[in-house]
Amino acid sequence: MNGDFKDLIDIEVIKKEHLTQIIVIVVTSLIIIALSAILGISTAMVQSRILLSKAESENEQEVPNEENQQVEEVIKETPKIPVYSEDAKNRMNNIYVADNEEKIAYLTFDDGPSSKITPQILQILKDNDIKASFFVLGSRVELLPDLVKQEYEEGHYIANHGYSHEYTKVYASANAVLDEYNVTEKAIRNAIGNEEYSSHIFRFPGGSEKGKYATVKNEAKNLLNENNISYINWNSLTNDAVGTPTAESLVEDLKKTSEGKNRLVILMHDSGTKQLTADTLPQVIAYLKEQGYCFKNFYDIMY
Ligand SMILES: [Zn+2]
Repeated sequence: MNGDFKDLIDIEVIKKEHLTQIIVIVVTSLIIIALSAILGISTAMVQSRILLSKAESENEQEVPNEENQQVEEVIKETPKIPVYSEDAKNRMNNIYVADNEEKIAYLTFDDGPSSKITPQILQILKDNDIKASFFVLGSRVELLPDLVKQEYEEGHYIANHGYSHEYTKVYASANAVLDEYNVTEKAIRNAIGNEEYSSHIFRFPGGSEKGKYATVKNEAKNLLNENNISYINWNSLTNDAVGTPTAESLVEDLKKTSEGKNRLVILMHDSGTKQLTADTLPQVIAYLKEQGYCFKNFYDIMY
């Protein structure tokens, strides 16, 4: 009996041991399952993240090359803010003085923008990789702000030619000149979407010298100077705004007025009636290149 009883106890012990083992196995298995589940989820998350970032980078790669190039171009030609320093002022005052053999031509276009002519001029400048300077009229800037923005974004210098171009208004007084300048600066800032922009360069309608309004012009020069504004005329021109020019006469007048000068500030116009200016511009550029001129704009002076 004793033996039987002992056996029974043994069986009980074995059973208990079994139970304990089973519990341990079950608990261990549960822990393993739980751990694997956690690991599985995190692995899946990591994997999905990798897939997601892959997909994103693939998406980025899918952007056409052409668009990428355009982005690079825009970055490369980030518009600038003119910096008006004493040095810049001196360089501006001495723009016609050639202290070396370098031949430099500054192409300048007055009275724009114009919906018809400005886009043609911009295309020709782009084709020739030339940066020019535009003396815009505030009244025109308000009408065609997008063209001014395009000029600016393509690296051309936006300078100030006053607001109205009506001599009786502009030259009513020295303060009227400054007012026209300030209103136009505001129009330029709005058009290009840059509140920091200040051109610091004015061109008097009809030029800064002599004539009926000489006294007011002289007073205005002082007032502009006090307000950190330079003014500039030109020393070469195609006479595209005088009489009834032809393609031949434009190039001929450029040759005559540029002869013997290593520094050229060339006056042209991009108002609506100046189709001839756009048509002849490639010839004008070709002639200047042939004569050994390189092309700069006022950023090269004001920056
Ligand atoms: Zn003008």
